[in-house]
Amino acid sequence: MSVKQSSVRERIYRIWSYLSASLVTGLLLFSLTSSLQAQSIDILLKGGHVIDPKSKIDSRMDIAIANGKILKVAKDIPSSGAKKVIVVEGLYVTPGLIDLHTHVFVGSKEGFADGFSSLSPDDITFKAGITTVVDAGTSGWRNFPLFRKQVIDRSQTRILAFLNIAGSGMTGFPSEEDINDMDPHMTSLVIQQYTDLIVGVKIGHYRGSEWLPLDRAIEAGRIANVPLLLECHLPMLPLEGILERMRPGDIYTHSFCTAVDRTCILDDSGVVRPYVLEAQKKGIRFDVGHGGAMFHFSVAAPALKQGLLPNSFGSDLHRFSMNSGMKNMLDIMSKYLNMGMTIQDIIYRATWNSANSIKRPDLGQLSEGADADLAILSVTTGNFGFVDAGGARMTGDRKFEAEMTIRAGKIVWDLNGRAAHDWMAK
Ligand SMILES: [Zn+2]
Repeated sequence: MSVKQSSVRERIYRIWSYLSASLVTGLLLFSLTSSLQAQSIDILLKGGHVIDPKSKIDSRMDIAIANGKILKVAKDIPSSGAKKVIVVEGLYVTPGLIDLHTHVFVGSKEGFADGFSSLSPDDITFKAGITTVVDAGTSGWRNFPLFRKQVIDRSQTRILAFLNIAGSGMTGFPSEEDINDMDPHMTSLVIQQYTDLIVGVKIGHYRGSEWLPLDRAIEAGRIANVPLLLECHLPMLPLEGILERMRPGDIYTHSFCTAVDRTCILDDSGVVRPYVLEAQKKGIRFDVGHGGAMFHFSVAAPALKQGLLPNSFGSDLHRFSMNSGMKNMLDIMSKYLNMGMTIQDIIYRATWNSANSIKRPDLGQLSEGADADLAILSVTTGNFGFVDAGGARMTGDRKFEAEMTIRAGKIVWDLNGRAAHDWMAK
């Protein structure tokens, strides 16, 4: 074969390769475009004020939802092809709220103490815009599988958990305070077995003066590489020492209370103790954990003024607190709104910041492809009263209310029937 012949063949081969590659690319592009066009929108939320702190969105936007996921967030998404269009003008559209401190192991056989005071999650979450709750150690490594079977797998609310360092969770005295049943290895083993559901270790309700329970809880967290949630029910241990032992990323709850049997974050003259501010600077996160006895305006308001803001608004809602001063997490958010925090800052702490506290960056945000968990909130104006855990009242003129809640693309709460059809329409 001559040199000339071979170069002609080479050229023909190159042209052929180029043409076939272009054809394949063209076909691929065509099928991709048509599949995008064919992907119909299940729900289109039109005209709401979207606040998505992760994406730094704080403006009027439309949100398209398909197959349980966020399909698109954009200024103006055409309604054509959408199966349901819901006008949400005048409302805030945010990621589904995350309640970081709950007790939802309902009917736990072993955990009689909190099994009784626990609440059924779906009964309380959606009407407050909450799509994810984290159970604060109602179960331990021994009974987590029961909790999962009995509650987690049967609920629509996404349920995550802190695993109690006490083997059977919140069973009350004496079993909950038995140091011999606080096993960092079994605890971390079960955490590693359920990484999709267990987000950390919890310790609380220990009235001894030994450091061993806290050390064991921290050890379990270290082995499993998860944060610790510390319910400040360790009255015999000094607060400064506790905060010193806690690692960056660990969470301190019941932060703003005046309970007499433990050290308050404020000193006697109402000043935030310097080591508390230092701890937050070091990366320790402060959760509200309001509950029935653990949130007081006399602590929260000065703390806010002095720069100690809660990182999350865990409610610690249970059977004995749900009908008292605190109604749900929205009530806590409304308290902070009236104490001067901005709506944007509140939404940040109730969504993206809470997701970061439990190292779940897939939650608390509205990026395309994320699970379509959303809260659609109104801020009502009027004359309102808010009550803390000590029975003290604060008046305010604004209040959050959940208009709609969407969980995995499904409408699970619709206060004013915005997604319903008019009964007179044919
Ligand atoms: Zn609690």
